[in-house]
Amino acid sequence: MSKRYSGERAVVIGAGMGGLPATQVLASHFREVVVLERDVLPANATPRPGVPQGKHPHGLLAGGLKALCDLFPDFSSTLAQAGANSLDSGLEVRHEYPGQAPFPARSLGVATFTMTRPLLELAVRRCVQERANVVFRDGCRVVAINATPDGNAVASVSYKTSNGKLEVLPADLVVDASGRGKPTLDFLKSTGRPMPEETVIGVDFGCSTAVYTIPPHATPATKVMITMPRAPEQSRMGLVLLREDGKWFAALGGRGADTPPADGDAFTAYAASLPTSSVFDAIKDATLHGDIEQFAFPESRRRYFNSTDRFPRGLIPIADSVCRFNPVYGQGMSAAAQEAVVLRNLLAAHANDPDPLASLSSEFLSAIESIIENPWSLAALPDLAYPDARGKRPADLEQSIGHHMAIIQAAYHDPDIHKQLIEVLNLLKPVSTLKALEVMQ
Ligand SMILES: Cc1cc2nc3c(=O)[nH]c(=O)nc-3n(C[C@H](O)[C@H](O)[C@H](O)COP(=O)(O)OP(=O)(O)OC[C@H]3O[C@@H](n4cnc5c(N)ncnc54)[C@H](O)[C@@H]3O)c2cc1C
Repeated sequence: MSKRYSGERAVVIGAGMGGLPATQVLASHFREVVVLERDVLPANATPRPGVPQGKHPHGLLAGGLKALCDLFPDFSSTLAQAGANSLDSGLEVRHEYPGQAPFPARSLGVATFTMTRPLLELAVRRCVQERANVVFRDGCRVVAINATPDGNAVASVSYKTSNGKLEVLPADLVVDASGRGKPTLDFLKSTGRPMPEETVIGVDFGCSTAVYTIPPHATPATKVMITMPRAPEQSRMGLVLLREDGKWFAALGGRGADTPPADGDAFTAYAASLPTSSVFDAIKDATLHGDIEQFAFPESRRRYFNSTDRFPRGLIPIADSVCRFNPVYGQGMSAAAQEAVVLRNLLAAHANDPDPLASLSSEFLSAIESIIENPWSLAALPDLAYPDARGKRPADLEQSIGHHMAIIQAAYHDPDIHKQLIEVLNLLKPVSTLKALEVMQ
């Protein structure tokens, strides 16, 4: 019996961490999936211009790994074979809070990997490239998603090739994983629809990242070390993270005018000013490789596309196109993979419908709200604690922050609370798990 497809062709805009897992899902439901990527994709794990954040450390949370393992069989082995470092999040991530002892190292059964973002992306891309009905067209920049004459559905995608030629590709479904969501917003505008409602939290976060070889006497005892800020008075924080090549990322972060520098000596001095000394101790005798890279992240932005009346048929914005999280909490790629799992489940549920795409977009946009809510609320709470952060503060903000801090205190002494905290922070369990915990404040 020949396979019944949900559509002839799906087009994915962007071969990043939202587009690749979505492509994997679509390949099981469309005769052909075409990925349009404006960058020329590198053959190896190197940063590329379309993903400038790829030069900075990217943590894959255990919840993100779980989602990728749901989508790609044996994905943990794939990562290990690619050179990623296995990570026991309870034993091998050291969290340091100002004025307190580091968290006790405990094996909590929460595992993931450390690696560079380009290595992770390459590993996922190679898995997707094995699908016979997936075509990658790189060096192709999408300029528009085109509507059917009645404006109610997507019809095609227009893109420019690297030699400037304009081409049009018909599509039954278009996934916008461009990171900024511009193609989706342009489509809504051009078909007379209102812009989606949004929540914005202005964080004015800046980070600087250096790559070091750390000498044996200073090598950190854990694969990740995080110095938390003395919030809300001061926003300076730091991180060291082991890469697949044995070198270490050192990243410094700060808010507002206090963003970290890109000059070597000033970078080290900023590290020395952090509330705990671990990052400075690791890098003070280390050898710096290449330039120090900077990234400015002005605001987190969550779009409620499900608030748009008559959302067009066949259009699926995903990942950062829907919600950009403050990168401090390392959630974006993991949320993107979890959204792809939602898409897979919906496509499977509708596969035998007379019209499998009829309600797919609106159901998807509603279903990912609960995925997004977890990382969003985990990040919003500490972000809004800073007096300069812009955004609407919930009436119970102080109470919620007090409860969260009490959980952190309780987790020092109680392995069960520690485990639940780590599971929630890794997006393995919903935030409601923590909200339900009764702790002394
Ligand atoms: C400094 C920094 C650090 C971060 N650290 C972490 C972390 O530790 N952990 C984590 O999970 N997340 C982290 N993130 C977030 C993470 O990078 C994103 O959430 C994730 O990459 C989102 O995936 P995406 O597919 O939406 O966008 P991207 O992965 O950025 O991919 C978008 C793709 O679309 C392509 N594209 C754009 N426009 C077009 C067009 N018109 N035509 C064709 N192609 C186009 C781009 O070239 C790119 O390949 C960090 C972000 C920043 C800024």
